[in-house]
Amino acid sequence: MKQRKAIAMVAHDNRKKDIVEWAEFNYKILIEHDLICTGTTGNLIEAALKNKLDYRDDEIQLNITKLKSGPLGGDQQMGSLICEGRIDYIIFLWDPMEPQPHDVDVKALLRIAAVYNIPMATNRSTADFIISSPLFNSNYRPIVKGFSEYLNRVVDL
Ligand code: PGA
Repeated sequence: MKQRKAIAMVAHDNRKKDIVEWAEFNYKILIEHDLICTGTTGNLIEAALKNKLDYRDDEIQLNITKLKSGPLGGDQQMGSLICEGRIDYIIFLWDPMEPQPHDVDVKALLRIAAVYNIPMATNRSTADFIISSPLFNSNYRPIVKGFSEYLNRVVDL
């Protein structure tokens, strides 16, 4: 049986064209899953996918959640969903050439995705590998460290 996955999608402004093209190319797969996007990225992906669907099947419901815009807290909302185990994959096309007003949030999102071992693509080629992987539709559960040593550490007061 096919599993419905929660796919987080974020792109900085200079990478939005890339993520929209990628979403259009993969729309047949993406429409079968739940998409969770930062605000502006979500608006663009929604418009692009609806446009694809208009010509084909208007019975299909697009399941897209739009969080706040990234610099207004959307990256942090996404990080929180990762902590709660509600994200299966993240496609995060961040801009390697421009500083962002929310660089600390960007770093936090990259970090928390690493902590929870979420399959994360930060460029289109890795996004291609994730979406075409035989594991994509499987029951794959990332191994997450227990961090028990850290949690049980002695804190000197
Ligand atoms: P946006 O946010 O999709 O609302 O532009 C992306 C980001 O994190 O910069």
